[in-house]
Amino acid sequence: MPIRWTTKKLMSKAAWHAYNMYRKGINYGSQLSKTAALLNASRADILAFQKKQLEKLLRHAHLTTPYYRELFKTESTHISQIPPLEKKNIREQLDRLCSEAVPQGQRIKNATGGSTGAPLTFYQDRNYWNQRNLSVYYFDQWAGWDFGESQLIVWGALSDVEGNGNWKHQLSNFWRNHYWLNGFHLTDATMRRAFQQMDRCHPQTILAYPSSLYQFAMYLFDNDLVPKWNLKGIITSAEMLHSHYRSLAETIFGTKIYNRYGGREVGLIAMECAEGRMHINCHDLYLEIDSSDPYTIPGDILITQLNNYAMPFIRYRIGDMGRLSNEVCPCGNQLPILAELLGRSTATFRTRAGTLIHAGYFTQQFYDVIGLVQFQLIQETLKHCVLKVVVNTQWTEAANRYMVQKIQGALGADVTVTVKFMKEIPLPASGKREFTISKVETSRND
Ligand SMILES: [Zn+2]
Repeated sequence: MPIRWTTKKLMSKAAWHAYNMYRKGINYGSQLSKTAALLNASRADILAFQKKQLEKLLRHAHLTTPYYRELFKTESTHISQIPPLEKKNIREQLDRLCSEAVPQGQRIKNATGGSTGAPLTFYQDRNYWNQRNLSVYYFDQWAGWDFGESQLIVWGALSDVEGNGNWKHQLSNFWRNHYWLNGFHLTDATMRRAFQQMDRCHPQTILAYPSSLYQFAMYLFDNDLVPKWNLKGIITSAEMLHSHYRSLAETIFGTKIYNRYGGREVGLIAMECAEGRMHINCHDLYLEIDSSDPYTIPGDILITQLNNYAMPFIRYRIGDMGRLSNEVCPCGNQLPILAELLGRSTATFRTRAGTLIHAGYFTQQFYDVIGLVQFQLIQETLKHCVLKVVVNTQWTEAANRYMVQKIQGALGADVTVTVKFMKEIPLPASGKREFTISKVETSRND
């Protein structure tokens, strides 16, 4: 390894250490060892830890949140007797879900567009974030990641799409040793530049949206561009990893994909190991399947987040389906296994200029539009989109203009956008609502 890479890696490692110590207020070295010891423990020890954490959380929720106090009358109620937390409960009763024991100033606001295109706002606290980061550090090491090692990130960045990439983002990439390819906005030129940069800097791992990674791999394949160094692994997250995405990307990059399953509301839920099984993150959460037999019949995934005391998520119906397995994984890790995951699916939009716009771009733009309850964006042709919206009384003409402008900003100023007001957006036969649909034929089979 050239000396300048080694130096950069060591500098970046020191910067990570300083960041976690001073900004996040944790000694991640010792904390990470503890997290790893738990996640590598025997099944019995893992389950005992989870049980203790769960009891502590239920007690806290019962004593300090109006919503749960009303929902279960005694603090010793068994979790299976608590009704699942639905997204609509969060939308309608956000304040009552927050703990009275956590001052408002210590709540960290977060939001997601969700798989239904309906915005969802919620709160987390510092301990949630610290624990969540420790889990990400631990599980990403399965894929070969380590502090300071260079990484290519194929992920969404609003700033680049809007043409004002900022210095903070660039500085953060520098000290983290990250290289960035904007997954919201892929063009032949940006993909070629990213490959040239990779060829110079030899990233050890890639973190990517599956659909963007697939587009990038397809571009490299079409242009006979072959990575000439050994990548340790690829981490994918945030959307469905289809089997044709996996096989193409693993062939082009010559390494294995480790799929990570998570959600902004609850953090990292499960991670794929070297043997291809998804292990459940028992350090941060307790996962149930809403099914009469969770080992044979898939059902809704219910998540109880164990560390977010600002706003407890207990049996949260996240919107994906899954099934458990009771097999012992040959990798040696004893965390329980999520055998099947039927998750979210999103569309990539193509503009007339050939640019690819990731669906996540629209979700991030629209999650906090006042008056918007739900949306679905359909690209009918390269020149025409239909935007279906469900709105409430706070909806204004300005919000309407904002959404149309954002769509035209991404897809082209001459694209017409028909806004349709709906009472509700009907579910497709699959039962899994999609907030973006593209009917534009592409030259590629995706
Ligand atoms: Zn395993």
